[in-house]
Amino acid sequence: MILQLKPLFAGEIERLPVEATLDLSSFEFHGDCPLTRPVELKGEIVVRADMLWFTATASYHFESVCDRCLSPVCGEFVTRMEHILVSSLNGEETDELVLVENDELDLVPLTETDIYLDLPQKTLCKSDCRGLCQHCGKNLNDGLCGCHEKKVDPRMAVLASLLTEDTE
Ligand SMILES: [Zn+2]
Ligand SMILES: [Zn+2]
Repeated sequence: MILQLKPLFAGEIERLPVEATLDLSSFEFHGDCPLTRPVELKGEIVVRADMLWFTATASYHFESVCDRCLSPVCGEFVTRMEHILVSSLNGEETDELVLVENDELDLVPLTETDIYLDLPQKTLCKSDCRGLCQHCGKNLNDGLCGCHEKKVDPRMAVLASLLTEDTE
């Protein structure tokens, strides 16, 4: 989805509403494509102090699995987007500025980057998810599995064999 910014840069208009429905179903996050439904973008671009200010909210449905226990995780999220759009960079290097080439702003990569940075580092079904047992695969949120008691600490195993040798 491309926005033509020429009228803004040329000073012909001072405000451009941003309203778009984006298909970000191929957006990848932690090896998954969690944006299964269209993303709604709403906002505006206004000219202020000879610069273009982009503000918008991206509303989306997130659907993936818990990093620890693999159970489904989904929810509705909103990411706030704020950028200053420039047609050329005068040597300044800053993350706030978005360089717009040929007066065309592609909303897809901009929205994808903002959502990526806004999403939590880990996808968890709940903050204290216990995950799966590494031995039997049981979901430990449903209760303990009993593997822990049977598992022998390697240091204890050495001690146990020494004790056995002593008694021989
Ligand atoms: Zn979990
Ligand atoms: Zn287990």
